[in-house]
Amino acid sequence: MFNHLLKIGMFSIALVSGSSNADVLNIKEQKQLVALKEKALASDLSYDLIESLTTEVGHRLVGSEGDKKSISWAVNKMKTLGFDKVWTEEVIATYWQRGEIEAKVVSPYPHNVVAIALGGSVGTHAKGITKNIAHFKTFQDLEAAPDHSLKGRIAFVSYRMERHIDGNGYRPAVSARVYGASVAAQKGASAIIIRSIGTDNNRIAHTGSVKYKKGLHKIPAASISNPDADMLLNQLKRSDNVAFFLKLTSYSDPKVVAKTANVIGEITGSEFPDELVTIGAHLDSWDVGTGAVDDGIGVGIMMASAHHIAQLSIKPKRTIRVILFAAEEIGLVGVKSYVNKRNGDIKNHAIGAEWDFGVGPIYEMRTGVGKKSLPALKEFAQYLKPMGVGLSKTNTAKAHSDMSVMSDAGMPSVNFAPDGSLYFDYHHTDNDTLDKVDAKALKHNTAIYTMFAYFTAQSGIDFSQ
Ligand code: ZN
Ligand code: ZN
Repeated sequence: MFNHLLKIGMFSIALVSGSSNADVLNIKEQKQLVALKEKALASDLSYDLIESLTTEVGHRLVGSEGDKKSISWAVNKMKTLGFDKVWTEEVIATYWQRGEIEAKVVSPYPHNVVAIALGGSVGTHAKGITKNIAHFKTFQDLEAAPDHSLKGRIAFVSYRMERHIDGNGYRPAVSARVYGASVAAQKGASAIIIRSIGTDNNRIAHTGSVKYKKGLHKIPAASISNPDADMLLNQLKRSDNVAFFLKLTSYSDPKVVAKTANVIGEITGSEFPDELVTIGAHLDSWDVGTGAVDDGIGVGIMMASAHHIAQLSIKPKRTIRVILFAAEEIGLVGVKSYVNKRNGDIKNHAIGAEWDFGVGPIYEMRTGVGKKSLPALKEFAQYLKPMGVGLSKTNTAKAHSDMSVMSDAGMPSVNFAPDGSLYFDYHHTDNDTLDKVDAKALKHNTAIYTMFAYFTAQSGIDFSQ
């Protein structure tokens, strides 16, 4: 894949596997790596970037003013932070307006419910709808309902997401949000409400995208806060006859397209400028909160990491490319556009890692690279050990969110797993704000990405092997 690599890569790997004393990086480079770690740990830059993004731009829904503003914000910041090249690549996405929502239990007695439209949802009639609830404990139960059996009803899926350090509770919960509307429509329902895909017990509701299946009638979809979902559930235990009012003015205009962009910045490699170490995050967010956690943290980490490396008098051998993806929230649109623009050929992407999860410190590095190059990353893991970061036993990892698409397209990948226990308390809510960013963990995480980018760019290892 890379001409020079056969020599350097094999030589380095032979050294690593042949002798416990030999290293991928020479002494000078090792010192550089440690100096970068210290620099990142002492720097407030990633936090300051998140503060700037969330204060000067705010939330960044695809196609909104905030989205447009965030693109110029990122371009300007990259330029001032010492990136060698900065550019944007246009991404075309759909435009969606959230509108207003009103939700309440009508009977057995009136009770206002905290609710939020799911991203991409259609609206109700202007006057709203009042229907009896049809309750399902899980998405699978909804799927099992006979076709047309929910006529004149609002479907309600009450599945409770579990808290987990890895965020593992998300996957079994999220199908109700993404596919629930289409399945409920197939069963004849007038609308669907779901318990929020979140682990908090606050009266805030969590948004997130919905996917309508082609050819099926589109029905309104909303999530309700977890305490409201608990109450609704208790009412349903007492009676099947619970009536619910939902009014939603969300809409998409198919004639209007949202023009947005991936923002890309590079620190040009000193020896192999065409080989890319890619680190990324997504720049867009939902239009609630300020997108500080999702994915302001990722934006801050990536830009700060590249800046620390840009300050070196001799740049690492490979180019470090920071990609801030557009339109992640509405279905990984930006990364798909990035890969398509390159006709699926991203072989010059030597390795990649993204951040789009968690608030706490990274505790494990997970690899998804070629077998021969694994010893090199094991050596890198030795630098992380004193920081409390372990190495996964398996070598099948994909990068976080956007970059998982690039992992699927063949890019060798690393996934840094952080403590994500609190992440889904704030995820896609009004509570995703700057105060949730853990400044100490942020420094730890920025140091790790800085070290990762330097190590993989300087070592020149062929991670596809
Ligand atoms: Zn995200
Ligand atoms: Zn998100």
